[in-house]
Amino acid sequence: MCGIIGISDHPEASKIAYLGLYALQHRGEEAAGIASYDTQVHIIKDRGLVFDVFNEAALDSLKGSVAIAHTRYSTTGSSNVKNCQPFLVTHRNRPIAVAHNGNLTNTEELYRKLEDEGSIFQTSMDSEILVHLLAKTPNHDYKKWFVDMLAQLKGAFSVVFMVEDTLVGARDRQGFRPLVLGKLGDGYMLASETCALDLTKAEFIREIEPGEIVIIKGSKIESLFLPGCDKSKKAQCIFENIYFARPDSHIFNDNVYLVRKRLGAQLAKESPVKDADFVMPIPDSGVYAALGYANELKVPFEVGMIRNHYIGRTFIQPSQFLRDFRVRVKLNPISDVIRGKKVIVVEDSIVRGTTSRSRVREIRKAGAKEIHMRITCPPIIFPCFYGIDFPSSEELIAYGKTVAEVAKFIEVDSLEYLSLDGMLSVMKDSGAFCHACFTGKYPVDVPSNKSKYQLEGKA
Ligand code: AMP
Repeated sequence: MCGIIGISDHPEASKIAYLGLYALQHRGEEAAGIASYDTQVHIIKDRGLVFDVFNEAALDSLKGSVAIAHTRYSTTGSSNVKNCQPFLVTHRNRPIAVAHNGNLTNTEELYRKLEDEGSIFQTSMDSEILVHLLAKTPNHDYKKWFVDMLAQLKGAFSVVFMVEDTLVGARDRQGFRPLVLGKLGDGYMLASETCALDLTKAEFIREIEPGEIVIIKGSKIESLFLPGCDKSKKAQCIFENIYFARPDSHIFNDNVYLVRKRLGAQLAKESPVKDADFVMPIPDSGVYAALGYANELKVPFEVGMIRNHYIGRTFIQPSQFLRDFRVRVKLNPISDVIRGKKVIVVEDSIVRGTTSRSRVREIRKAGAKEIHMRITCPPIIFPCFYGIDFPSSEELIAYGKTVAEVAKFIEVDSLEYLSLDGMLSVMKDSGAFCHACFTGKYPVDVPSNKSKYQLEGKA
């Protein structure tokens, strides 16, 4: 997963992009970057949080009225410096920069074709393919150029390009990942989520439609569509609503906070717990659903654990050692609240199960009498090929296990998941979502090579 931003026609484009990146930090904590254009491209990118990568001097050097920006969480390629974005190339003296969110599913095929035609790859990211394709596609007319290039891609992409002073934004035909459009002074702002528009005081106009391409030059915007777009085949990632997106964002025609509250309420209807003392969330991701659950069940809501906000999301650090450390350091239970109580713990999802188990152990150590865990989505048993780092089925704790077996692993007194129908029933347009991680029904063919590192060693 990643966060992307595009700014056009603003005298301080890179500074606006920088602020926007802060709002999208949750979408990727591994690396950050901004590219801007005045008469030439300026680019700064590195591993680390937005705060670590930029300082005042760096921002001052990013001149120009157009900019694109990126926060990275790797779903293809390792987390190394070469794989930071925006990715920049110069073709026939024309600089082309790209920032991409999502995963292509025909990476291997495109890569092989491009290499056969002489492309030399510098990174192991599928995103690099986009600029090679762009360079090879005849480009006398911007509209045809981008349609022809993007039509070759399969899978998930919400993407922004900066070609000299032109900003281009696009979303794949299924609309897996969000992308929104805002008005910012005379120009425009594109961002993964509306929370980035709010922070920069851009006015939300609308979401970019699945399959739509917008070409923005100065204050002019043109919209066109990829051939073969079919509104009935939308497949927005439901996990954005469950966990990934920020609750203050409005994506997929809904507010994320309200969706999570509805998920919690639905869960309470399906899986209540009798005589519990209170409902508590695993902060922060479970908070909104726990509120919905507690309201519906008319049981008190307590914040039984306090989050250390100076630690980022735990799963994003790729190595297991760091992940374990971050799990331990991040949340502290309040034993005076928990001791001797029968608690309902609401969590958005269980992926590998390690975080949940360590949390449950801490709640137990804090003196809970009984722990009943409720999850606001069904068991995740299939990998994601469209941009969420759900690894192979074998690494997913619910795969091949009954709910009782998962409960035993997590060490809870009871465990229940929200049903698929229940989850979909609270979505505004329930047919417009991808739920392949629960059902294995992949809306776009999955890649032949399934490794996250499929381009490693090749580039
Ligand atoms: P665990 O119990 O280790 O599966 O961790 C569960 C928590 O991590 C939940 O809040 C999940 O929503 C969150 N999470 C979200 N995305 C991922 C991911 N790609 N890999 C692992 N955990 C994730």
